[in-house]
Amino acid sequence: MSDNCIFCKIGRGEIPSRKVYEDDEVFAFHDINPVAPVHFMLIPKQHLVSLLEVEEQHAALLGRMLLLAPKLAREQGLENGFRTVINSGKGGGQEVFHLHIHVIGGGNIPPMVKRS
Ligand code: 5GP
Ligand code: ZN
Repeated sequence: MSDNCIFCKIGRGEIPSRKVYEDDEVFAFHDINPVAPVHFMLIPKQHLVSLLEVEEQHAALLGRMLLLAPKLAREQGLENGFRTVINSGKGGGQEVFHLHIHVIGGGNIPPMVKRS
């Protein structure tokens, strides 16, 4: 838990969000600034900064989050597929330093990396 972390606060229900899913370990909620018709994030309730900080002891939690992603994506209407994004560290474009898996879909999903 981190007192100043916005996603910890969302996971504890202290900051409102549009909840997609919740259990003892995982919280999922819609992104406030969606990049596609469906854009939500899965977070561990435990404060983990990014993939750069995870250890062997987090393997089961990470596995659970990845298994939840397609289940929740289907429930949100993404029957044909979705994109997952995990930005890790400043070099990976991460802006909120509490590990999160973006699930993005619906509409036109462009190639992830533009090649000139
Ligand atoms: P990152 O760039 O760290 O991978 O993604 C952070 C994401 O969190 C961004 O897509 C941003 O729109 C979203 N975000 C930031 N603050 C809030 C918030 O207070 N509520 C919600 N629902 N999303 C947020
Ligand atoms: Zn946190």
